Amino acid sequence: MPRATIAVSATLLLQALATAASVQTASAQAAAAPQTAAAPSAPPPACTVGVRAGRLVDPVAGKVRSAQALRIGGERVLGVLPDGPAALVGCARVVDLSGATVLPGLIDSHVHMTSDPTIRRYERLGLSIPRLALIGAANAQRTLLAGFTTARNLGSDGYTDVALRDAINAGDVPGPRLVVSGPGIGITGGHCGSNLLAPEFRQTSLGTADGPDEVRKVVRQNIRYGADVIKYCGTGGVFSKGTQPGMQQFTPEEVAALIDEARMHGRKVAVHAHGAAGIKVALRAGVDTVEHVSLIDDEGLELARKYKVYFSMDIYNTEYTQSESKRRGELEEFIRKDQMIAEIQRRNFERALKAGIRMIYGTDAGIYPHGDNARQLAVMVRYGMTPMQAIQSATVNAADALGLAGQVGELSPGAYADLIAVTDDPLADVRALERVSFVMKGGVEQRR
Ligand SMILES: [Zn+2]
Repeated sequence: MPRATIAVSATLLLQALATAASVQTASAQAAAAPQTAAAPSAPPPACTVGVRAGRLVDPVAGKVRSAQALRIGGERVLGVLPDGPAALVGCARVVDLSGATVLPGLIDSHVHMTSDPTIRRYERLGLSIPRLALIGAANAQRTLLAGFTTARNLGSDGYTDVALRDAINAGDVPGPRLVVSGPGIGITGGHCGSNLLAPEFRQTSLGTADGPDEVRKVVRQNIRYGADVIKYCGTGGVFSKGTQPGMQQFTPEEVAALIDEARMHGRKVAVHAHGAAGIKVALRAGVDTVEHVSLIDDEGLELARKYKVYFSMDIYNTEYTQSESKRRGELEEFIRKDQMIAEIQRRNFERALKAGIRMIYGTDAGIYPHGDNARQLAVMVRYGMTPMQAIQSATVNAADALGLAGQVGELSPGAYADLIAVTDDPLADVRALERVSFVMKGGVEQRR
């Protein structure tokens, strides 16, 4: 763009901002004037919805409290207090969940919203970017209605997850609050790339980068097009042709450049890593969350504990891969690699738990159908967690790992009024969370 054009645009922009500011100031004065005359202090925010909770799970305290009342103003929680005749006085309306257990909305910190697991890999090559975005819209609604009011999307084609996040925030389509990465960043021929076609098709991926300079460039590109978080592939994987889950991808220099660049822009970094070498490169470079963690060794566990890094271990989806994906005729290589590491990953989940590693709930939904996100809770309990620990991984811990502590994953004053209810007791049987009967996001009922 010629320099003169920029100057004109900048001037217009400044004029527009000045006009907007003066309009705002005028309207603020008009609104403030009568209030100042009538009441010197601002009135308390109005209760738009009150919720009676028979039992309320507080994952921050690790406690369940009986007969609680929530006062909600707009999209936020105003307060939580013991239920009683006066608890919800003044609320515009009341939702009665006194026969149910209420929890903060759940968080899945590893999904692929624009991926449909029922479509085989080679058939997916015929799907356009707009078609993928619409698949994402349908999956976002399924995820929300299953009680997941926040999700982190780690890897998408063509920034479909950025578009989906923006459409949800604009109210165009229903879905969870999304934290998105855009295309995963990976080496040529690696797990985050596309290796399905013969050389003459010259298949490329937006996130492919080799060498520290190219890595910095794709990080910048992802941020430019709307990524909230940076995701890279630090090892091979299960669902990529010709890669080995145990093998490291990217050099320590490339990973250091990637994390440095992400930090410069205030972004957290998630690494896809199965093998111990790739996990340790990431941990030493300062990664925030490690995804999968299947083949971790003792040294890796020690590093993760020392640096207080969150593990996101997807220990449910093998059940779908070994039954449904196999039956549908997914590539034999993928089924075989999943079988090789699935049980080791579950054992290592137990070890990581015993070692005191901080855990978040990440399921890799998209490998299995969206909406079944809660099914991993029972597997986590089977491999050593208490139901409360499993709930904490999907609420308060995940919120912290995503940089949303105090906003989601808890129902304290100031947090979003994202909450769910179940009829059965999830502390007695965590599978109760597979049957969510009520979902509210930002003070608005999504399911009742
Ligand atoms: Zn994934």
